[in-house]
Amino acid sequence: MSIPFVYHASYSKLALPSTHRFPTTKYHNLYQHALKQHLLFERYRHIPSPISIDMLYGVHCPQYVDQFINGTLDHKVQRRIGFPWSTELVTRTLHAVNGTHLCVELALKHGIAVHLTGGYHHAHYDFGSGFCIFNDLVIAAKSAIESGEVDKVLIFDCDVHQGDGTATLTQGDPNIINCSIHCAKNFPSRKQQSDYDIDLDKGCTDTRYLEHIQQILPYLIRLHQPDLIIYDAGVDIHQDDDLGYFSISNQGILDRDKQVISIAKMHNIPLAAVIGGGYSRSETELTLRHSQLLIAANESWLSTQ
Ligand SMILES: [Zn+2]
Repeated sequence: MSIPFVYHASYSKLALPSTHRFPTTKYHNLYQHALKQHLLFERYRHIPSPISIDMLYGVHCPQYVDQFINGTLDHKVQRRIGFPWSTELVTRTLHAVNGTHLCVELALKHGIAVHLTGGYHHAHYDFGSGFCIFNDLVIAAKSAIESGEVDKVLIFDCDVHQGDGTATLTQGDPNIINCSIHCAKNFPSRKQQSDYDIDLDKGCTDTRYLEHIQQILPYLIRLHQPDLIIYDAGVDIHQDDDLGYFSISNQGILDRDKQVISIAKMHNIPLAAVIGGGYSRSETELTLRHSQLLIAANESWLSTQ
């Protein structure tokens, strides 16, 4: 057994101006690195098809969906997303959003699965922001519930930024529990209310951060007994991240991911992990940070089979 994972070549196919801070290449780099280091194996790769429009309509405003796909969004709405519109962006988005849905299906079947993109938690009902267009986390959670596969889903969001879109899209839904652990003073400036918001100060260290994870996750599991955890393993918590203000080391990221995976496994709850945010001019550094999730999955999941 190896970790089932989801990756599509379109993830890194996005031509952006050279000054753009979005790390387009990181998906392809992580995929290559993981194969080379035997953290993942090609025969366990699953390739997503584009998501159906009906699934997007199930969570987002149909007019927003149509206008994004057709390239007719108001320029202010497009600018808020943070990417210029292109057919490559549409292709990438539709595959990537369905990738998280596929990752959830794989996790329900195999116990764990990893998606080498995902975590578009700043996508709201009728607009996107912060490089997020459609909320893959909510779409995948709703789809698993509506198909009858699960009753309750926990979205456990450890990206350094608050999952504001996830919060607005799941408010009032008793079957999706949303927990965001983020930096209090960071994007988005206007926070929304998740079911659980753990807002930590700038400069948060490994020890303090890991204490929070160790406390909150078992508590949420005891209280809500989710049938599935969708885990956003964002690495913008790293001390050198361009858009984060925490002081977390690579070891801290590894320990966090191991904790989350071990706790899910101990409680027999399927875990679908997405790599989430992570920003650095150094491609090597960024690959290393995201690869901690894959190391953790191998060490904490496979070694205790
Ligand atoms: Zn982020």
